[in-house]
Amino acid sequence: MRKLCLVMALAAPLGMMAQKAVNPTPFANTITAEDLKKHLYIVAGAEMQGRETATEGQRKAATYIENYFKQVGLTPGNNGAWQQSYPVYQDSLGSASIEINGKKFQPYTDFTANLGGSSSSSLMASEVVFVGYGISDANRDDYKGIDAKGKVVLVLAGAPPAAGQPAAAPRRGGMSPVLEAAFKNGAVAVLQVQPGFPRKAGSTRGYQYINGFRKTIYPNVYAVSEQVAQSILGADFAPAQEAMKAGNPQAKAYAANIAIDFQKVITKLESSNVVGVLEGTDKKDEYVFLTAHYDHVGVNAAGQIHYGADDDGSGTVTILELAEAFIKAKAAGKGPRRTIVFMTVSGEEKGLWGSEYYSEHPIFPLDKTTVDLNIDMIGRIDPTRKIGDSTNYVYVVGDDKLSSDLRIISEAANKKYTKLELDYKFNDPNDKERIYYRSDHYNFARKGVPIIFYFNGTHADYHRPTDTPDKIDYVQMAKRAKLVFYTAWEMANRNDMLKRDIPLNVPGR
Ligand SMILES: [Zn+2]
Repeated sequence: MRKLCLVMALAAPLGMMAQKAVNPTPFANTITAEDLKKHLYIVAGAEMQGRETATEGQRKAATYIENYFKQVGLTPGNNGAWQQSYPVYQDSLGSASIEINGKKFQPYTDFTANLGGSSSSSLMASEVVFVGYGISDANRDDYKGIDAKGKVVLVLAGAPPAAGQPAAAPRRGGMSPVLEAAFKNGAVAVLQVQPGFPRKAGSTRGYQYINGFRKTIYPNVYAVSEQVAQSILGADFAPAQEAMKAGNPQAKAYAANIAIDFQKVITKLESSNVVGVLEGTDKKDEYVFLTAHYDHVGVNAAGQIHYGADDDGSGTVTILELAEAFIKAKAAGKGPRRTIVFMTVSGEEKGLWGSEYYSEHPIFPLDKTTVDLNIDMIGRIDPTRKIGDSTNYVYVVGDDKLSSDLRIISEAANKKYTKLELDYKFNDPNDKERIYYRSDHYNFARKGVPIIFYFNGTHADYHRPTDTPDKIDYVQMAKRAKLVFYTAWEMANRNDMLKRDIPLNVPGR
């Protein structure tokens, strides 16, 4: 009885397809290993320079995708434009100097600053306040008995664990207990004495980020050498260190003429998602999204290109082939009932930026978006996977999280057409690899849009320069691409949107 119910449930969605009497297979068969290979050798070729977000290589890849969308006959997806741009900020160090009582200290020799966490600042103060480890919480107050408001404070490294925290661990939100205490006590800058000076000069280029505007600006924290501390504390430095070991901090103000100059340059860059649309027929105001990220990690410090053939050249070129297959169906009078949006996003490797931007600035209503099928790495074989057929599989992630329709459709399409092993190994959001949170579908899921994430697992070449197109299993990749096609076909043509009957339960990344 139970089994029979299951069979009927499986038959239902495909029954609707049969009702239209359209056989999708001729269109699925336009997705070929040869075509995927041809595209991938270009997208993951040297000319694309590893496709790092907000670089020339990324823009070249975007142009290639855009041209292909144009060539096969999609229409521009962003109100007449092919790309949806979003701002990216990049910090770089202009200059930095610290001068104490006329003695100049040099960056890296005697101090460093965290470029990302700091703001440009130029100040001259005649007093520095020593506040032990600089902790001020329920257990301990190194600021006791001193007014640090408007002061430069000097602290020693090696603070004991704060209440319930590992030693000096940054708290949630990224603020360390030392910075938190300095901010709370009104300090304007923090000098934290650290070992390991002089240090190797680092890059003057900082990380990229997308959220440039901050609710609160905190004082800068400078890591400084013992020489800097000595020039302020003088003969008190050694006794102060001893006193700290005995857990007996004595806050004290020291007269010192200190000039700190720190200038960072914030460059505003741009990256984009490439969006092509195939308009539906009687349900054209509802949307099926097919996504993959076209960015990768670029060129490393040693000058080696990270080609990103599997990650995620494989998903990117699959999107190109899916677009062609659906276009051919339309040309044959069998176009999708719902509108299909083919979107390749960037910024994924930096932190799912492109899909985050899209989900916060959707071009098409998210509540009319029935599904997002996201492809990130489908061209390789997981060397650790030993169960069943070791190559004829794909990891399916997230299909049962928001709609009870989706797994039934996905499994039925696979059973009828592609016959892969659907492996749910990474489906649990609490899996230690946290795969569920690690690609762009997540930004659709957190907005309530049902998703499937297709993935082949990691391998020795993952995020290495050796992730090259010659290592791809194109036959297996074409098969996985066809599974996405058949699943999308059903989603685009069935009578109803996927029901959203499972409560949204996706905690933060
Ligand atoms: Zn990656």
